[in-house]
Amino acid sequence: INRSRLDRYISEKLNISRRDVRLLVAQKRIVVDGKTTDDISLIINKFSHIEFDSKVLQANKASYIMLYKPVGVVSATKDEQHKTVIDLLTFPEKSSLHIVGRLDLNTSGLVLLTNDSRWSERLTKPENKVKKRYIVTLKNPLTPDYIAAFEQGMYFAFENVTTRPATLAILSDYVAQVDLVEGRYHQIKRMFGRFRNPVVNLHRQSIGKLALDNKIKVGESRYLTPLEIEQID
Ligand code: URA
Repeated sequence: INRSRLDRYISEKLNISRRDVRLLVAQKRIVVDGKTTDDISLIINKFSHIEFDSKVLQANKASYIMLYKPVGVVSATKDEQHKTVIDLLTFPEKSSLHIVGRLDLNTSGLVLLTNDSRWSERLTKPENKVKKRYIVTLKNPLTPDYIAAFEQGMYFAFENVTTRPATLAILSDYVAQVDLVEGRYHQIKRMFGRFRNPVVNLHRQSIGKLALDNKIKVGESRYLTPLEIEQID
């Protein structure tokens, strides 16, 4: 469940009527997040801790994880052919997690995973325009005209969209830093494709304020800190 009224939740969980739930609540046998409640219409979510006669009915931990995705690992929860980002994790709750913004098979870098869909929506809603930063290594040298072209946007006929303004900085002859506020299919590769300049290496460095922790090695992951969870956009 994501959000539900307490009486509805208890009624479904224990398979009893709402009237019986009212009785249990009145008898102070239901405890939510450590407190006895007398409010049957209390709105709970999947991370509320709920007990009935001291038996735990629900205790889901909210998890927020950053992973340094290697090249060759799929951003999916299941795959026939390749290892997935979930396969790389060792956390016990890993099967409950979803990916917050996928990366291509041959892209490396920051991938976030969580079981909190309200949190992941804040990061992925297009109108929130959360900035994703990529470090791109190209086959051919960069020239200053790339900057304006990325800023102006490029029309993609297949989706019939023009890309939103993107910021390109030239870090060296063959390396660019690109900030996107969206994530179209193969977007970076297609944008450099307009210059007939193949991407040889693509790495995501950050999503919003969350940067890949340089203490994490490729393939490794860690929980976000409470501060990181709060300061996402
Ligand atoms: N753009 C791409 O082409 N691939 C990614 O994985 C991310 C952005």
